[in-house]
Amino acid sequence: MSRTYYIAGNWKMHKTRAEAAELAKALVSQLKGGKHRYLVAPSFTLIETVAPIVKGSNIRLGAQNMACEEQGAHTGEVSVFQLKDLGVQTVILGHSERRHNYKEDDALINKKLKLALKHGLEVILCIGELLEEREAGKAEQVCETQLVKGLEGVSAAELANIVIAYEPVWAIGTGKTATPEDADAIHAFVRKLIGKLYGADAAEKIIIQYGGSVKPDNAAQLMAKENIDGALVGGAALKPDTFVPIALFG
Ligand code: PEP
Repeated sequence: MSRTYYIAGNWKMHKTRAEAAELAKALVSQLKGGKHRYLVAPSFTLIETVAPIVKGSNIRLGAQNMACEEQGAHTGEVSVFQLKDLGVQTVILGHSERRHNYKEDDALINKKLKLALKHGLEVILCIGELLEEREAGKAEQVCETQLVKGLEGVSAAELANIVIAYEPVWAIGTGKTATPEDADAIHAFVRKLIGKLYGADAAEKIIIQYGGSVKPDNAAQLMAKENIDGALVGGAALKPDTFVPIALFG
């Protein structure tokens, strides 16, 4: 495979500044020389602490969300300029917790995504179906809608700054992982769809991470699959003992 594996840790709403600094320092030291691509996405309040620790290392700095407007009267939101000012390079958008718990829809996610790209941020666009949607045989349809609407108005050149994360909602934080075969089937579907929208070269190049209870004991089997190019890791990203073995697999 010519694509580089990309392993990202989503720290969600965990850790104080001291704890975040400790984790970031451990990751910088233990992932030094690691051959894949890495990212950590701490809470907004931790970014300034983590930024100088990961600077100059092989770990990118990410944020977990971003406002859809550049600035103004948006109480509680954080802008693209504020993220860039802290050294953020990547933003995770459309995470299922944002979609389902905070009611973010595809139009909003698309607006955020285009704004992030306009200002030079890399975007990890999360897509994935609910359990009832999978059971109703609609997993592909849901992913297609989220992908097509999420990428509306995005050019082929801009796509180079986008990573897709397939995260079946029923596998996030539940300990249930999609089988490598089931995950790869959706990844293959997504890659084919990217091919239809942007051409074969774009399809070959796009990085598609899998997310949903990735752990040290299942990461290698998942990423051995042809279309799984990395992982977006939640729970297991909170400790070096669990994140490092995933990040250094292979
Ligand atoms: C996530 O936060 O995107 C995620 C996949 O979480 P977990 O690994 O805990 O399932």
